[in-house]
Amino acid sequence: MGIFEDRESAVRSYCRAWPKIFDRAAGSWLYDEDGRAYLDFFTGASALNYGHNNPALKRALLDYLADDRVVHSLDMYTVAKSEFLTAFDGLILQPRGLNYRVQFPGPGGTNAVEAALKLARKATGRTEVITFTGAFHGMTLGALAVTSSSIYRNGAGVPLTHAVSVPFACRLDGSEPGSPGIERLVQDGGAALDQVAAVIVETVQGEGGINVAPLGWLSELAGLCRRHDILLIVDDVQMGCGRTGPFFSFEAAGITPDIVCLSKSISGYGLPLALTLIRPDLDIWKPGEHNGTFRGVNPAFVTGTAALQVYWRDKVLEDGTLRKGQRIAAALAALARSVPGTPMQPRGRGLAHGLAFEHGELAGKVSSAAFERGLLVETAGPKDEVIKLLPPLTATDAEIDQGLELLADAVQTVC
Ligand code: PLP
Repeated sequence: MGIFEDRESAVRSYCRAWPKIFDRAAGSWLYDEDGRAYLDFFTGASALNYGHNNPALKRALLDYLADDRVVHSLDMYTVAKSEFLTAFDGLILQPRGLNYRVQFPGPGGTNAVEAALKLARKATGRTEVITFTGAFHGMTLGALAVTSSSIYRNGAGVPLTHAVSVPFACRLDGSEPGSPGIERLVQDGGAALDQVAAVIVETVQGEGGINVAPLGWLSELAGLCRRHDILLIVDDVQMGCGRTGPFFSFEAAGITPDIVCLSKSISGYGLPLALTLIRPDLDIWKPGEHNGTFRGVNPAFVTGTAALQVYWRDKVLEDGTLRKGQRIAAALAALARSVPGTPMQPRGRGLAHGLAFEHGELAGKVSSAAFERGLLVETAGPKDEVIKLLPPLTATDAEIDQGLELLADAVQTVC
């Protein structure tokens, strides 16, 4: 560990929860330098929906590299980019009746969000963005301003402005006790609705602790945006690419956002790639107005294309995700009942699940006990009180069961 403690910045985080040196990986498994296997129910926070080093994607990548094809090209036209856009159009957008322009905003999810917020403000001429309690959208200043958690906000060093936070998934019309409704809240929060450019929302808050927005609420939110001429941005960085079942997490709600942010599993292989999908009439960027060196890493296009072709030609992956998700939901409900003295709240959609404990200390102990047993599960939520399960969508039933057994053993030992 010496070199990391001596040389790597104090900002490092996941390695503190899982203090092993990892070396190899395949499918649902990570191996440390001593060869010990860990079942990965963290998957790079949903960056590895098709598992580690997926053989079909790896083949395409190795062939591309072996043939000396272009690796770096800024945003020039390449065959790899053309094939990716063609696959995305033909396999994802057209079958869903969606019409978006695709912007490559930079390598990570925060770049997709930053571009979405800038464009929403530019297109509407308004400054304010409505965001929700529990939201996580990234670490660059614009994305951080619409991120809720104080630990991240405290790192900004400047005031984070032009964002109004309202309670997630609360009734929008104010009819719920304790919730004055979005109109009132916006005004009380210092912004009139006519100053609001956009609402940014995760359909399931990942870092916020697997908070699942009811589908009806999402469609009401889309209606509210339409009525007030506010743009709806869905941040599908963590919940997109099939994590909740369908390719986009908003499909189940029957809504069509104005702007969509994608990253994490869009390259399929854990390589950096992000997309901001834009309603065509909003694509008013001037050439080069939003720039960046890494706005299209060709090897990421290659693995992204292979992922779309292998997994999104039919509904096999989607159906499997929903079926395995039901298996996890049933197992977590049984686990919560099995320890009556310890309140636990299971929740989730597709293959994104959470088990909420009363406080973070307990969830932290469960995560550590799971790690000792060879299972990677992250904690999330405002107090890190939620055990978060994000297995690869390609995990086998046996691997799902094995992970659930390891988790149950960890919970029962700790509680
Ligand atoms: N948006 C959501 C919903 C996320 O979950 C994340 C990362 O976890 C981001 C944005 C930021 O993505 P990145 O870490 O790639 O910048």
